[in-house]
Parts: sequence; structure tokens; C-alpha cells
Amino acid sequence: MTATAMRTHRCGALRATHAGQEVRLGGWVHRRRDLGGLIFLDLRDRDGIVQVTLGPDWTPPEVMERAAGVGAETVVLVKGVVALRPETARNRELPTGDVEVKAVDLAIAGRASTPAIPVARVKGEELPAEELRLLHRHLDLRRPELQRNLALRHRLLQRARATLSALDFYEIETPILTKPTPEGARDYLVPSRLHRGEFYALPQSPQLYKQILMIAGFDRYFQIARCFRDEDLRSDRQPEFTQIDLEASFVAPEDVYAVVEAVLTALWEEAGETVSGGFRRLSYREAMESYGTDKPDLRFGLAISDLSERFRGRGFDAFDSALASNGKIRAIRLPGGAVLSRKEVDALIAEGKAAGASGVATLKREGDRLSGPLAKLEGMTAELAELNDGDLLLAVAGPDSVALPSLGRVRTAAIARLKLQPREKHVFAWIEQFPLFERDPESGTLVFAHHPFTAPHPDDVPRLMAGELEQVRSLHYDVVYNGVELGSGSIRITDPELQRKVFELLGLSRDEAEARFGFLLRALEAGAPPHGGFAIGFDRVVMLLAGAESLRDVIAFPKTTAARALFEGAPTAVDPQEIAELGLKVLP
Ligand code: ASP
Repeated sequence: MTATAMRTHRCGALRATHAGQEVRLGGWVHRRRDLGGLIFLDLRDRDGIVQVTLGPDWTPPEVMERAAGVGAETVVLVKGVVALRPETARNRELPTGDVEVKAVDLAIAGRASTPAIPVARVKGEELPAEELRLLHRHLDLRRPELQRNLALRHRLLQRARATLSALDFYEIETPILTKPTPEGARDYLVPSRLHRGEFYALPQSPQLYKQILMIAGFDRYFQIARCFRDEDLRSDRQPEFTQIDLEASFVAPEDVYAVVEAVLTALWEEAGETVSGGFRRLSYREAMESYGTDKPDLRFGLAISDLSERFRGRGFDAFDSALASNGKIRAIRLPGGAVLSRKEVDALIAEGKAAGASGVATLKREGDRLSGPLAKLEGMTAELAELNDGDLLLAVAGPDSVALPSLGRVRTAAIARLKLQPREKHVFAWIEQFPLFERDPESGTLVFAHHPFTAPHPDDVPRLMAGELEQVRSLHYDVVYNGVELGSGSIRITDPELQRKVFELLGLSRDEAEARFGFLLRALEAGAPPHGGFAIGFDRVVMLLAGAESLRDVIAFPKTTAARALFEGAPTAVDPQEIAELGLKVLP
């Protein structure tokens, strides 16, 4: 199906079986080499590269002359005959390496000026700086790596669609010009020309639309949804990104889990990996207590343990005072950690401190010898600390809110530093029963941990009503893969009174809640089925499966970390006339 009026094959598709055939190709000149009267062109297209050879014995002189002048990245049309290369000239590194195309004609279709950045690289040659590549994205996208990444992205998208469609989900599009939906970030606003002083918001997610589709009876919805969040700069975020967004009615969390597992296992399989569903499940509390993070990398053991009772009253003031104020002594044992140098151990301690620990105490066992500050504790033995030969123990005392995240950071850093080998290649897990509220790190006040449509855990509704907010768990869940969050979702509030109560807790007056979310409240009052859903961060999934280092390597036209589109130049100033038409004024 790749044949057109202009070409018979794609360059990268030619194999030994095509030998003897006359072909017409179109492609980009990847490299040109002139050798002893012959001209070799590596001709590249989406499928790969094939060698085109021109020589005086089979190529007319005027064609030789034309070919001698073509520069890199020029688009040419070639007519020639596929020939088996002599045994010694075969190239094992190219799928087309058994053949070459002996050209009888060559036409220049699109002459390229000298490329601002090279597309062809010799092995090991570094890429140009990323800013430069984004500025010349049309050239950067020609790189075989990016061509492969976007081809994979396409296949994964088709697989997600097919999987959800087979599970009886409807693909339904929701608006891009919307009313703000809070997902915890700032909205991109779009001023209305027809209604001065009024604004649309670009969707942070299709959250409310998908809930309303459930209320309207569509039962199962999905969308490959573009979402927009105006966040401060972070290296691994894009202001616009793609989610595989879904919602289903009459479901409990495990029903949503089954659907998401089906999609994720299909995507991994599409990328050539074998994984199975039935992901592990951990409550948020278990994840925090064992790994100090809600995104634990479960390919490694290294669980945090509670040594409070073992280390109590052994003459170490920092420990005893932490225990006296209801704290705990939490610790992590690193098998083989005794080999780390003083400097390396200090780097781990610094990680713990950066996460808030006032100190990280260590104990090392080498043979029968214990060393480190904890060796001085009264009655300290290897058995008491449960240390094997070669182990290093790192302990933090304090409230769990500090000790656990600190040890979580130490654990992640230690895995990297010790270059530990994972016990399994792929570990997916559900993290569930997140708290409904969390403390805002800046203001210290309690805020919703996720969006305000998340249902509280049914057992905790009385606590919510009584205002014991910190104790309230939710029906929010995340999927974590090898320490990376792939997405999240929840069961939703369907009782309009409960939803009103939650808006009230958010600090919205009845009138404000009505103005902002009246449409949702009216929909809930019209009879809502129990429903819940999920959103998979698709860009991140593609990045992981492509083995890419950056989200920008799996998005055709990404923004920089400063939210700029360098290639086309956005955002950009606009004609003052247009701004005036919108009824706006730009402040200096
Ligand atoms: N709307 C949520 C998000 O974008 C996902 C969900 O709750 O389904 O993260």
C-alpha cells in the first residue's frame, strides 16, 4: 500500500527478495560518499535507509553529474534495479543491508539548504543541544530515533483504542473550550470576543464532562484527551499532554482496575514486553510505611522497618526524645551497603535531610565489627539491629510525616548508588485509599489531595461530616510502574448533598459552588449512577516503552520546560488591535 504514482517501495522496505526488480524510490539523502568513480547515496524514508549506488557502467553520465551535486537532506526520486550486494559488502547493521539499488535515474524533488543541525550522525556522536533541536524540529524529527518513537506512539494509540472499544467503551469527544475544571493546577484561559470580560478555560482534564456522560447513561466512555495545565516549570512536565481518559458506570474500584490493567498490559505487549494483569495492591499507608513514598519502585525489596522498640532507651537522646513525642524510629537496611565510602554515605544522609529529617544515623557491619554513630548505643549488637555482614543501616527518628519520606528518598538514592539489580523487570502496583486531604506544604492548611469530585471512603464519611478531615481516606487510586506514576483515578461522589458539603470544605459558599459547579450539581440531582474512572498519562507510557529519556522525544511538537514552542514561536505577542477586540489590555 506504500506504492504511489511516484514510487514503488519505501526505501527501508527493500530486502534480498526484491533483487532483480526495478523500483522507484523517494527519500532524503542521509549521506553521500564518492568513491573511485562510484557515488553512494544512503537514501532514507520513514521505514529506514537503503544504499543507492551510481556508477558509470549502469548510470547515464548526466545522472551521475546530478547525483554528484546533491547535498545531505535533499529529497530525491530514484529509479533503479535492486541488486544483491557482494557477500563482502553486506551491511549487517541495516535491515536493507543485503541489497543496493543501482540507479539509472535520479531527479531532485526538493533541494535542501545546508541543514542547521545534522540528521545523520556517526556512532557515538553527541546530539546538538536540545534548544537547537527544538528550534529546527523539522530536521530533528527526521532522526530515525524520533521516527521510531512516533511510530510506536501511533501503534500504542491504536492498541489503546482497540482495547477499550472491545471492552465496550464509546470514544466520545469533549470540548476544548470549556468551563474551568479544577485538577489542582492553573487554567489556561481563552478570552471570549463575543462576550467581553468572559473566558473559556482549556480543559485540565475532561473530568466533569465524563461524569456527565455517565449521568447521561453512556455507561462506558473513553477519550484520547489533550489536557492543559499552566504549571510552573518542571523538567518532566508538558503544559499540554495526552491522557487515555476513561469512565464507567456501576463500578467499584476493582472494575476500574481490571479495565486499566487490560489497557496497560496490551500497551506493554504492543511494545514487545510480556506482563500480566492482577497488579499488586497497596494502601497509601502501607506504601508510605514500607517505602516512604506513594510511588514505590517495587522491583527492589528494601522495605523500611520500625525499630522503635529495639532502639528505645539505649542512651541516644535524639531517639528517646522523638519517641517521647509520639515519633518512631524508622530504618532501612542496605545489603552490601557497608562498601559505600564515607562520602557516599554522606550523600545518602544529605538526601534524607533534604526531605526534612533532622539527622540520619548510621550503623555498619563488617565481619563482626559494628561502626558508625549507632554502634555506641547501649547493648547494640548486629542481632538487635538485624544486620548481616556487609549491611548498612540508616535510621531516622521523628514523626512519620518526616521520617518516612526521608527514608523514601534515602532508599531511592541508595538503589541508584549501589546500582542494585532489580529482582523483576516490570512491577505494576495499585496504590489505593489515599487521604482525601493533605497539608499544603506552603500554607500548612488542609487542602484536597486530588480533585473535589473524589468520593470519600464509605467508612470515613462520618469523620468527614464531623470535620475530622485528616483521618478521611478516599476512593482515589494510582497506578505505579517501577517507581513511576502512570495515572490516577477514583470513584466519584454521586450524592449532590455530599458534593455540596465538599465544596463547602473547599471554602466555597453555596452561591460560589452554584456559580462554578451548578451544572454538575443539577446533573447529580437528575439521578447519577455510581461511577468512577481513570486517566493514564499517555506521553509518559510512550516514553517508558520507547526507552526515551524525555517526554519531548515522544511528542512531535513539544514545549520547552519554559513552556515555549521554539519551532513555531509560541507564545507570541499579537496585534494590539486583536487584543482590543477582546476587550483586554496588556499591563506592562
Ligand atoms: N481527571 C483525573 C486526572 O486528570 C483522572 C481521573 O480522576 O479520572 O488526573
